Amino acid sequence: MGRSVLVTGGNRGIGLAIARELAAAGDAVAVTYRSGEPPEGLFGVRCDVTSMDDVEAAFDKVEAEHGPVEVLVSNAGITKDTLLATMKEDAFTDVIDANLTGAYRVAKRAIRPMMKLRRGRVIFISSVIGLTGQAGQTNYAASKAGLIGFARSMAREYGSRNITANVVLPGFVATDMTADLDQEAIVANIPLGRQATPEEVARVVRFLAGDDASYITGAVIPVDGGLGMGH
Ligand code: NDP
Repeated sequence: MGRSVLVTGGNRGIGLAIARELAAAGDAVAVTYRSGEPPEGLFGVRCDVTSMDDVEAAFDKVEAEHGPVEVLVSNAGITKDTLLATMKEDAFTDVIDANLTGAYRVAKRAIRPMMKLRRGRVIFISSVIGLTGQAGQTNYAASKAGLIGFARSMAREYGSRNITANVVLPGFVATDMTADLDQEAIVANIPLGRQATPEEVARVVRFLAGDDASYITGAVIPVDGGLGMGH
């Protein structure tokens, strides 16, 4: 059996593409899903990352099925867009809770077994918006920027245990999350002149999770068609 991998929010969109990419590379991949059914051919565990109890139970099930998680991809995320002047407090705290505190919950649960194994890969799916900012997304940008400081602190805490922590910054990816946005206006600002496919993000995650990335930690890697120009 391949490495035990867990992808949060792996039932659709970017998370599902990552899960399929790693499964195709030979890993034993589990995904979390919140509602509905897990995707065909992947081991699914029900989990809402806003609940530590859910996270604990999900890891318990994955460990029983595939062994301790060696590769964690923290991908689950939401948006609740509105301008700051009209943003209610729960729109801010809900996004932080799912995107940033959710990442804390899964990383926290994953770290001790990784320390015991003396190896591990943690990959956070942030966003180019975390660095550039975006009108209407103070909550989302803050949550995504927070992941960078979090990952870099983890990289420093656990590097000596052969555990890496890296961040991927997708730009504009064709998923449910972006389906209602003004595609034309956004694409006009992308040097490559198009949206990314979820698979283009997934391949970078596969690289970070693999042997070729053994000396990369604390890195922030844009996959954005030039949208953020290295920021
Ligand atoms: P989707 O909306 O297509 O999928 C989001 C996934 O996250 C779903 O699987 C969803 O589960 C899951 N999820 C959301 N909240 C929770 C929660 N509280 N607990 C568990 N799972 C949860 O989004 P994308 O695939 O587009 O996005 C994936 C990640 O990539 C997100 O973190 C997003 O911020 C980031 N990203 C996306 C970009 C894009 O252009 N699409 C650009 C930059 C970053 P469920 O099906 O149950 O709702």
